[in-house]
Amino acid sequence: MDKVFDKAPDKPPDKPADKLNRAVVFLGPPGAGKGTQAKELARKYGVPHLSTGDMLRENIAQGTPLGLQAKPIMARGELVPDSLVLKMVKQRIENADCSFGFVFDGFPRTVAQAQYFGELLKRCGYKQPLVVHFAIDPVLVIKRITGRRMCKVGGEIYNIFERPTRVAGRCDNDGGELEQRPDDREEIVAPRLAAYARQTAPLVAYYRRLGRLHDVDAAQPVEEVTRRVLEIVRGIK
Ligand code: ADP
Ligand code: AMP
Repeated sequence: MDKVFDKAPDKPPDKPADKLNRAVVFLGPPGAGKGTQAKELARKYGVPHLSTGDMLRENIAQGTPLGLQAKPIMARGELVPDSLVLKMVKQRIENADCSFGFVFDGFPRTVAQAQYFGELLKRCGYKQPLVVHFAIDPVLVIKRITGRRMCKVGGEIYNIFERPTRVAGRCDNDGGELEQRPDDREEIVAPRLAAYARQTAPLVAYYRRLGRLHDVDAAQPVEEVTRRVLEIVRGIK
């Protein structure tokens, strides 16, 4: 997959000398804060932030065949079939910019995706992933999801309740217009949480059994979650 699916980093990395050198996976329900933290971690280490949700939305925006297939499924709050997601992911992580590590948010989302991902990493000569589990009561994520707004230009994530912009409706970084994702409307939240519970939550036990899972209390403020994520990532290096 070519670079068109990457958002340009909004800020330069802090200290790219410190290499991540592995895949980090953020696992947790929608609205847990994975994207917010993934952007921060990727920036700190100067590695790509990969989000299958962003890649799919980009396909929809560009009207690709994949986008046309995915659009009605995402609008219903269901998961896109594994075969489509896996093809997209394979193309992306074979890209040379992933060779010093990358941060994945929103993938894998099924046990089949996790198994395939493990094989793919092996074939690419990468270590198995470090998985950070964003643990949070599903009741708390509802307000986060319905309050989420994203910058149309750089993809920066805000929240009208918890993380408002300085100027209403405009991104603090680039002044871009903010928008609400169609699937962040209240009526789509329940099916998304149900899909998480049925198809993705089993990955918590899957990765725990493999000894790769690290828990984070995702109900804490953003800065506290960042501190804990960094502690985990640095702890295993
Ligand atoms: P995910 O990628 O897991 O779906 P996001 O990172 O997009 O979640 O965050 C969902 C919403 O919650 C966003 O509006 C974001 O600004 C807000 N948010 C993220 N982390 C926190 C936090 N720790 N406390 C309060 N709000 C948060
Ligand atoms: P997200 O941006 O991670 O909240 O994902 C938005 C939507 O994209 C999900 O509700 C799914 O429909 C789809 N999606 C994203 N990642 C995946 C994945 N790994 N597997 C299947 N569907 C996905």
